[in-house]
Amino acid sequence: MIHSRMILCCLIFLTVSAIGQSGKTPAPYKNRFDGTDPVKTYLVVPVRSGEDLPDLLQRFGLAEYECNVTQFFKINNLKEDYRLKAGTSYKLPVEVVTYNGKSIRTTLGIKEWQVAKRIEEYNKFALKEGLRSDNFMETKRLWVPWHELNCAEDKVPVAVATVGKAPEGEKSTVVKGARSYAIFGKKYAKTPFVSQKLKGKVYYIVSGHGGPDSGAQGKRAGHTLCEDEYAYDVSLRLVRLLVSNGATAYMIVRDPNDGIRDEEFLACDQDETTWGDLVVPRDQKERLQQRCDVINDFTAKNAKAGVANQTLIEIHVDSRSKDTKTDVFFYFRPGSEPSQKLAQHMRNTFVQKYLKKRSARGYEGSVSARNLYMLKETTTPKAVFIELGNIRNDWDQQRLVLKNNRQAVANWLCEALLTQ
Ligand SMILES: [Zn+2]
Repeated sequence: MIHSRMILCCLIFLTVSAIGQSGKTPAPYKNRFDGTDPVKTYLVVPVRSGEDLPDLLQRFGLAEYECNVTQFFKINNLKEDYRLKAGTSYKLPVEVVTYNGKSIRTTLGIKEWQVAKRIEEYNKFALKEGLRSDNFMETKRLWVPWHELNCAEDKVPVAVATVGKAPEGEKSTVVKGARSYAIFGKKYAKTPFVSQKLKGKVYYIVSGHGGPDSGAQGKRAGHTLCEDEYAYDVSLRLVRLLVSNGATAYMIVRDPNDGIRDEEFLACDQDETTWGDLVVPRDQKERLQQRCDVINDFTAKNAKAGVANQTLIEIHVDSRSKDTKTDVFFYFRPGSEPSQKLAQHMRNTFVQKYLKKRSARGYEGSVSARNLYMLKETTTPKAVFIELGNIRNDWDQQRLVLKNNRQAVANWLCEALLTQ
């Protein structure tokens, strides 16, 4: 019954539009390219619990066009942030226009039959999906998706747009409309979309050591603290923040089952691999060269794909001063001005953060050039090597065993990358 009524509506619509075409054209609907901002009514809808902007746009069939995202922020007077408040109503980039009862083309003052046809299909889709309960021909409320009259030619899947032009990077799957990354572990796999500020930028994040090499070890409350595990956790938290902000990020050293961990004492294991499921060599030079090869291959591929902004960040927790408490050290690739600038900006960001925390002690982290293998032998335009402290030092341990502190370090590094 519903089906036959739909067909009937279609027939009426086609007939009516044919008449509309030959009849007098009414005053055209204001054209968005004329620089004026006509009075528009946008569709207003409440957000479901757990829904972020990509989910919401997906639900309303608007996710494939980037201009819908831009317009969403504009009409809601929001800063770019993909997290939405459940239960709050937002304007959607869908205009509600009074249908003139004749045709979509005469209603909107457009010539293109294909566009009118797609708008008609969109209104049918909305009815079929239960997004609306009325038929536009009966209630004269025509829904016009923003992209149809503004950017129909730029169909860019948002998921692709957010990973820039780079061919690879951490791969997400979509689970119930949310992006999910297995590498972050069960608890943190679902990754919110926060912004596209790092869109088109590529990051290679290397956590020091791994595989047969646990790095430096410390003792605390009867537990062994392995440097590679703590470096890994901070690195993973950083990668998650980067992809949340639209970057393409590569977690170079990978553990199949650790994910982001909230415990104070992270178990030491040896099952890490290098990107591409490569076995981590025991020999130090081979181990480092393997990482360099992977990074250099991707750097070349991504450069060829047009990515100019590529950065390597390596994280360790074994500063040399053993007994005294140490601060964060930033080493940059000798002779590389972009690397030096980034290292200095990271340090400045940390100084600001420490000042804000009104930490009783002064921050003494430093920036210097250092001839380290991973800085020398890699070809990324920017490379910074960070020592978060010394895993054998009691004060540094205190700073790293708490998950909030590990998250704070990742947040600060991400903030430095967002503001550089
Ligand atoms: Zn190390």
